Amino acid sequence: MTRVLIIGGIAAGMKAAATARRRQPDLDILVLQDEPEVSYSACGLPFSLGDPAAIPRAKSVARSVERFRTDGIDLRVRHRVEEVDLSARRARVRSVVSGELSAEPFDQILFATGAQAIQPRMPVAEGAPPVLPLRSLADADRLRGLIRPDGRAVIIGGGYIGRSRRSRFVLCSSLFTGFRPCASHRRTGAEGMRILASRMIAMEMRV
Ligand SMILES: Cc1cc2nc3c(=O)[nH]c(=O)nc-3n(C[C@H](O)[C@H](O)[C@H](O)COP(=O)(O)OP(=O)(O)OC[C@H]3O[C@@H](n4cnc5c(N)ncnc54)[C@H](O)[C@@H]3O)c2cc1C
Repeated sequence: MTRVLIIGGIAAGMKAAATARRRQPDLDILVLQDEPEVSYSACGLPFSLGDPAAIPRAKSVARSVERFRTDGIDLRVRHRVEEVDLSARRARVRSVVSGELSAEPFDQILFATGAQAIQPRMPVAEGAPPVLPLRSLADADRLRGLIRPDGRAVIIGGGYIGRSRRSRFVLCSSLFTGFRPCASHRRTGAEGMRILASRMIAMEMRV
């Protein structure tokens, strides 16, 4: 039986796993994912942070680990691939929880490891709050613990996230005000940015 190893279990990894299972039911598919959750929508995280009552955390996860397993996809969360030997067709895997090492053989391999947030290298004053990224569910959980309605936040980076219709808005506006995209904010380019900046200023944000 052909064994397919997929590294990374969010959008690309789980879509590939589900598609491979559908097209070739006899494949042996193993997904290794270092985070505790799989198949979550990073796109929804700003909304969920901005308005947790409307968009609870659980809604960010499209399909659970158990659901994938029921569909015949072997899935190991909290397992990090440390090394891949392409000629021996073997991956070295470490359990994030126990630190235990194992070797996983494969016939085919897919790297669906995504990207990491760029942490700006700049001096931070002693005692200042940390500069945190927003890439994963864990990042969102950390931020959720820090956001206070009367608090003050500095957001580094105010670009459009993605190109889909729903996402043409600035991340920070949804993060801290529960702001939702409306028709005017779906416009792209300079005009869209101008409208958005004026709305953010009206919300007493400094842009
Ligand atoms: C806040 C935010 C908002 C976004 N909004 C939108 C939007 O509105 N529209 C849009 O189109 N896109 C949006 N995106 C982008 C979209 O979420 C990403 O393009 C998508 O998640 C990429 O999926 P991926 O599977 O390629 O990678 P990722 O989602 O990064 O998943 C890769 C996974 O692999 C894991 N991994 C990495 N290395 C290893 C390893 N060695 N071993 C095991 N596991 C490993 C990572 O920890 C991660 O869990 C947004 C992203 C963010 C962060």
